[in-house]
Amino acid sequence: MESPVGRQFGGARRRLVEELRGKGITDLAVLKAFENTPRHLFVPTGVAHRAYEDTPLPIGNGQTISQPMVHAYYLQLIKFTGSEKVLEIGTGSGFETVLLAHLAAQVFSVERIAPLLENARTAIAAAGVERVSLLLGDGTHGWKAHAPYDVILVGAASPDIPVPLLEQLADGGRMLIPVGTREEQKLIQVTRVGDAFEKAELGPMRFVPLLGEHGWTS
Ligand code: SAH
Repeated sequence: MESPVGRQFGGARRRLVEELRGKGITDLAVLKAFENTPRHLFVPTGVAHRAYEDTPLPIGNGQTISQPMVHAYYLQLIKFTGSEKVLEIGTGSGFETVLLAHLAAQVFSVERIAPLLENARTAIAAAGVERVSLLLGDGTHGWKAHAPYDVILVGAASPDIPVPLLEQLADGGRMLIPVGTREEQKLIQVTRVGDAFEKAELGPMRFVPLLGEHGWTS
């Protein structure tokens, strides 16, 4: 049987991996995760022919699948060892969820828009990935039942870091979250050391808003 990734778009996928390498992605596990993830299954069929361009694309409900380079940059910052338990906020298309499944041990992902979550569920299954758990709800509350997490990745921008997410970070755990105004944000890396949280400010970012009780409330 053909692998779930299939031969379809194989050349385009390899070219995207080379493009990411050229733009500074050197983590081989991250590059391999891209090689093994069929991004064309995570975008609407009308734009599938553009799935391997390094660009964000609309996925419906006013949301976008992030630019591959943004995903790759996030994932390279974490330096996965393969043993991590990860919480993703903002499943969106489910594409990053699958990249995470290739890089970490356990993946939990929360999305607030039901039709997007259902599309993501279908695409994740079509990509042949099983070890991910999805939840419909307000991700600014995190997902307490499975906490603490070694890694928390937030794929939408918040005015502040939601306190429940800090509480659900394991000792030594790391979180990446874009923080700022609705128009522009800075990526913040938070590292938990005991009860202290060390924050490092990384580059500028532009994400859709994190809408919820501990994010943007309107
Ligand atoms: N990494 C995803 C990003 C999708 S865009 C991808 O590339 O496909 C960000 C997603 O965050 C959107 O789907 C949006 O609906 C979701 N989102 C925004 N606020 C949220 C919240 N409070 N809880 C869960 N998901 C949220």
